[in-house]
Amino acid sequence: MSDLYLKLVNTSVGKSAAQTLGLPAPISLKRWQRTDQPFIEGDVLIGAASGARAIQSIGSILGASPAHVFHATGQVSLEESSKAGSKAKPLDVTAEINQRFSALVFDASGMKETTELKALYEFFHPVIRKLGKNSRVVVLGLDPHHCRKAPQAASQRALEGFVRSIGKEVGKKGATANLIWIAPNAEERIDSSLRFFLSPRSAYVSGQVVRIGKSETGNMATNPVAPLAGKVALVTGASRGIGESIAETLSRDGATVIVLDIPAAMADIETVAKRVGGKPLACDITEANSPRIIAEFVEDMGKGLDFIVHNAGITRDKTLGNMPEHFWDMTIAVNLTAEERIDEELLARNLIRENGRIVCVSSISGIAGNFGQTNYAASKSGVIGYVEAMARSLKNGITINAVAPGFIETQMTAAMPMTIREAGRRMNSLSQGGLPVDVAETIAWYCNPQSAGVSGNIVRVCGQSLIGK
Ligand code: NAD
Repeated sequence: MSDLYLKLVNTSVGKSAAQTLGLPAPISLKRWQRTDQPFIEGDVLIGAASGARAIQSIGSILGASPAHVFHATGQVSLEESSKAGSKAKPLDVTAEINQRFSALVFDASGMKETTELKALYEFFHPVIRKLGKNSRVVVLGLDPHHCRKAPQAASQRALEGFVRSIGKEVGKKGATANLIWIAPNAEERIDSSLRFFLSPRSAYVSGQVVRIGKSETGNMATNPVAPLAGKVALVTGASRGIGESIAETLSRDGATVIVLDIPAAMADIETVAKRVGGKPLACDITEANSPRIIAEFVEDMGKGLDFIVHNAGITRDKTLGNMPEHFWDMTIAVNLTAEERIDEELLARNLIRENGRIVCVSSISGIAGNFGQTNYAASKSGVIGYVEAMARSLKNGITINAVAPGFIETQMTAAMPMTIREAGRRMNSLSQGGLPVDVAETIAWYCNPQSAGVSGNIVRVCGQSLIGK
């Protein structure tokens, strides 16, 4: 469903009317357009606090882009910014600055004392108002779980509040802010994540904290135009909505997609499978024999699976006192138990290939709870628990992560009463709903071969919703 208010407010008449009435004026978000599009363009400023661990990786990733790269000077606390490599030109942040930035990237991973947090102020204060529309802020830190001393853990944890607040301040420009926490010696694993968070692919992801660990596998080279070429993906609930977009996006990036949905959706399954050059599979994932049917389908294809995206989901809303038993049972069965059963079967038969990816779809309701959704919220919180536990036990380079969408424009949200729909759309830093492709792009980043160190994460695709954490 289209957001008429967003369209209206982006006309000159609509914009001045919104200003006069004090209404939100969301910016039309720039999304990924073409496969050869660079992940970032324009002017990018890099800064680093002392002891920065990832500054060289940041410099070389940005150095390979067509962006004009600068490193901050003018403050003693920012001296290590110069390690960003020869492509980065110096820019004195204490002098007058007349340019607009498409991104500000700060490496805070070396901070050990809370007094060093001042470097954040010294870097961001002079330039934050120079961010352009649809721009990006990315801060990199050291995962506090790996900090031995309290002052270091405190300074690294402080980055979370800082970044989440920046996201709220810059959202009106259609800009996002995210934090990447790196484990020790995982600095060279940031490639796909830094590119994702700087690119239009993360248009609706803001205020998020991602952990990158040291993966079992090395840094794999990928074809940037088709990073998933030669891979096989299974997407459940793929005949429409978010699942359809996931199938399209993984196929765009080179994967062959098994398009699974309920038998009643066969016509749509076939249409989507044909469009994405994939394989149709009609199967109700709650049926007792569904894990076997899926496993045999994968065996018959002969290569095993690289990606499983557990997207199929239902809502059966009622307040708990009014909820019929079958509403409870169905919601838990589709949204949670089916995922476990399918993974168990595929893992037992060794059908998930080395460096495979399992991606689950949770929801903001699973983080914050929601009136009338005790069953749905329980299932989606359960998904988070499942992902966190599985991440600790999976072997063979297989990762597992979840996305937690907020308000996404689909048939599900189009069916909401108008006032609830409008509130859902506007109650986030970007003052608009997301699109299915925003969820799909986040899943494609998890699936990227270079995201081997990204496991056990729950990333909200919610425009930094005001609801929940
Ligand atoms: P949707 O209803 O448009 O699509 C869900 C798909 O899952 C449908 O095609 C449906 O047929 C399929 N499905 C349902 N039960 C199944 C079963 N037993 N076996 C096989 N397939 C089954 O919903 P959507 O909005 O695209 O949501 C996709 C996922 O995203 C769901 O898990 C949903 O909970 C989650 N989500 C959506 C939003 C949103 O704003 N739309 C927000 C948060 C989370």
